[in-house]
Order: sequence, then C-alpha cells, then structure tokens
Amino acid sequence: MALSRVLHLYAASVAALLLFSWVNFIQSPSDVFGPVALLEPTPSAARDFGGVASDAPLAVLRPRSAADVAQLLTALSSAATPRAAVAARGAGHSLHGQAQARDGIVVETRALPRAVDVVADGGVPYADVGGGAMWAEVLEECLKAGLAPVSWTDYLYLTVGGTLSNGGISGQAFKHGPQISNVLQLEVVTGTCSIFLPPCLALKSYFFVAIVEEESSEDTVRWVRTFYDSFRTFTEDQELLVSMPELVDYVEGFVVLDKQSLHSSSISFPAEVNFSPDFDSGRKVYYCIEFAVHDFQQQGGSPADHVVELVSARLSYLRPHVYSVEVSYFDFLNRVRMEEESLRSRGLWDVPHPWLNVFVPKHGVERFKDLLMDTISPGEFEGPILVYPLLTDRWSGNTSAVVPSTPDGVMYIFSVLRSTDPARCDSACVEVIMEQHRRLADEACRDGGGIGAKQYLARQQSPAHWLEHFGSSWDRFVARKAQFDPMHVLGPGQGIFPKTD
Ligand code: FAD
Repeated sequence: MALSRVLHLYAASVAALLLFSWVNFIQSPSDVFGPVALLEPTPSAARDFGGVASDAPLAVLRPRSAADVAQLLTALSSAATPRAAVAARGAGHSLHGQAQARDGIVVETRALPRAVDVVADGGVPYADVGGGAMWAEVLEECLKAGLAPVSWTDYLYLTVGGTLSNGGISGQAFKHGPQISNVLQLEVVTGTCSIFLPPCLALKSYFFVAIVEEESSEDTVRWVRTFYDSFRTFTEDQELLVSMPELVDYVEGFVVLDKQSLHSSSISFPAEVNFSPDFDSGRKVYYCIEFAVHDFQQQGGSPADHVVELVSARLSYLRPHVYSVEVSYFDFLNRVRMEEESLRSRGLWDVPHPWLNVFVPKHGVERFKDLLMDTISPGEFEGPILVYPLLTDRWSGNTSAVVPSTPDGVMYIFSVLRSTDPARCDSACVEVIMEQHRRLADEACRDGGGIGAKQYLARQQSPAHWLEHFGSSWDRFVARKAQFDPMHVLGPGQGIFPKTD
C-alpha cells in the first residue's frame, strides 16, 4: 500500500509535534497575526482531568485548519527571541498539566475539522482522521462503513492526537499493540516550520489510522468475568488468555478491594454477579479477569459462546464464579461512559484524580503489587485498580513510548485510577497520595535494584527523572527534539526540557 509505515511518533514533548512551531513575544491576546486571531484564555485551558496542575496560558488559538496553525507559527517564529511556548490541547484528559502552557499559547485541536474518511478500496482499509477527533467519533463514523480500528483505550472521549501522544492502550493491546502501533502515517507540523516554510504550509494535521477488522454496529461481543483469591493464579490465567489471540480479543483485569469496589466495577457489566466473598474486615482482596470474544471474529468458526466455554474450561478461577453477557460491539467499547455517568452523579468526576500508571515487567509484578497494596486502604479508595498483561514485541522501538525491557516479553500495566472526594480528601490529602505515588514509582523504576518498571502517562518529577526514564533512548529523543523543535518551545506541559528564555 502507498502509505508507509510510520513514523517517529515521539511522544509528548517533541511530539506535541503535530501542529506548531515556536512562539515569541506574545504580549497580550490582542496580538493578532495575519488572519489568525488569538483569543482570551478560557478557564478550561488551565485545567485538566487530573485536577492537580493549573498553568494559565496567555492566549488560546482555535484553528479552523492546519493552515491557521501554520500561519500562527510563521508569524511567531519570525521574532528573534522565543518567549512563549505552545501546547496542543485535545480533550484535556491529561493528568499533570501536559496540555497546558504557562504564559504561552494553548491550541485547542477540537476546533480543527473532525471529519473521519474511511478508505476501503482494496488495500488495507484505514481511516483518515483529524487529530482533534475523539475516538468515540471515529468509532461512530467507521461503523457506518462496517469497519473499526483494532486498538482502543477504555474511555473513548479522548482525542486521537491526545492518545497517540502517549501510546493508547486497552484490553486489545496484547493482540494488536497500542494505538501508536496501528498508525499508518501521520502528517505533522513541527517546530522547523519556519525554516522549511513551503512544505510546512502544505501539511495537514491528520492521522491515518489503520483499520483492519470488518465489523458492524449489529455485531456482538461475549464479555466474561472470572474471580480469583490468588494474585498468582490471576496473572497466570491472564497470561494464558493472551497466549490465545486466535480465540480471545480482549483481556484486562482488576483488583476487587471490597464490596464497594465490586459494586462500582459492576456498573457497566450488565450481568447478575453472585460473587460476595468475605473481605475479612478489609484485609483480604480478590481479583477479577475480564476477557471478551467478538462474535464477528467467529464467522465460519465456533460461535463465541462455544469459544468462551472452551477458554473458560482452561482457567483456574474460583469456581463457580464465571459470569458472561452478550453486548453490542459499540456498547462494549463505550462501557466506561456508564462509569463516567455514575461518577458524575456522585460528584466524583470533576475532582482531583491523583492517578498512577506503571508498566511493570513480569518478574516484578508480585513485588509491585505488594508495594502498591501497602499504600491503599480499602474503604477509603474510590476507583478501579486495573492490572493486565501486554506484550512488548507489539510496541515499536521507534516511538518515544518507553516500556520496560523484559526477557520474556511480558509486562503488566498497573493503573491506579483514584477519584478523591473533596469532602473527605482536601488538597493536603491529595498531595499525600501523590507523594506516595512518587515514592512507589521511584522504588519501582529506579536504576539498579529497582523492578525495572516504567511510568505511563506521567509527568516525571524532574529532567533527571526523564533521563532515567528514557534510559538508552534518551540521546535519540534529544536529537529529535533538537531537529524538530530547535527552539525548545513545544509541549511545555511535559516538563522534559527546562524552559529556555
Ligand atoms: P490532552 O489532555 O488534551 O493532551 C494530552 C497530550 O497530548 C498533551 O501533551 C498535548 O499537548 C498532546 N496533544 C493533544 N492533541 C495533540 C495533537 N493533535 N498534536 C500533538 N499533541 C497533542 N489512556 C490509555 O492509554 N488507555 C486508557 O484506557 C485510558 N483511559 C482513560 C480514561 C480517562 C477517564 C482518562 C481521563 C484518561 C484515560 N487515558 C487512557 C489517558 C489518556 O489516553 C491520555 O491522558 C490522553 O493524552 C488524553 O487525551 P486528550 O485528548 O484528553 O489529550
């Protein structure tokens, strides 16, 4: 196919890549360049889902096209000394201010055209998608053509540009890799825009996302949950499941801390679950595996129900605790929307979210789980703790996503997705949680004697932590930064490089 396989999708900082160049001397939002006008900053430009970082920009740009962005860049880059930085903002679901730009410009990519062109003309089908489109919009449009991307995030109200700045993972990633492994081509505007002006202006800010599965809105998914009282059995069964990609389409899992966490995790799972163990006054925890089999994959083969029976029979869950339900493909992918609605109704959506996401190599999972559980008091913890395996060979070494090196190729994502209720946890309490996370991450990720883990979605504590995070790929990252953002003004919210004045 004509599209070449990609790309130096290098994350966050440099990768803020898509749209812009550097910015100089913005004295006030009334500075107008060419036909592109900057707007007064909105409160949302200084906010994100994490709710723990807030840096106000000087101005906001709502581009109607990539040409608007290019014009902004051209005007800004002509000044001698760069003074302000530029951050792209998609849906603003960052956790630590990654889409913010203190005294700089926030470019709201949701303003860009969000058309989704699905192309299925004989070669590998793909979707040509604007970077500001949300995955829910991509899904809806693709389903009209009977197709769908293969790799997802659990939550679909994130933008394509936002998740590709990180990786983009869910229960399909063991099979298809993260979203960044499913990009055929990116078109970007970089910080060298002013140097190579004509080609730069020709660029669009579009992604081409690989789509390889046929599927329609009528298709269904058989969604299964099995329960465990042993962490080892839980992970062994997860690894068994990811070794059967020809049968299984999705594998995740979570810690069942107590009755409340069992109830919260059941909101989107429309089956009656009769699992009510003795939580032994908060000391004993359980585990739940979630896997799914797509009906449409089984055409001409075994029906999904039969596959589920076959697969379940090989698992060592606490019998009889296997529960399964058939849901539409769209509802399955959109399942976290119900959890969002539930949290909103309880006033727990627009609150601080001190989250921790860590990729842990297989050999370190027991130890990391023990360290993590030492920081958690069941009864006081609100939110899911996800744990599921990923295969490192599905990750391209050519991106800036960093995963642990692990001889057996298996790593686990631990996602500690806590919502804090301001009535019970004030800002000092949130800071205590974040400090616990910093200590835990230091212990798990430090060079020498650590577990060899790597944080995901994090803003590292300092440039030295970033260096340790990138490890042997640091030099390449720095070289790309110098090549594509020589003025060091893109993606300031990542905090990878010190600000230069
Ligand atoms: P923003 O927060 O707006 O931006 C994130 C970063 O991307 C910033 O650095 C920004 O500058 C950059 N960026 C945004 N758009 C562009 C663009 N067009 N060009 C260049 N750079 C750009 N992650 C997973 O992998 N799997 C999950 O299942 C998952 N579930 C989540 C559920 C919830 C409820 C939340 C809040 C987050 C979840 N995440 C998950 C994390 C999420 O993928 C990242 O935080 C992602 O960056 C958010 O996308 P966004 O559109 O909100 O980006």
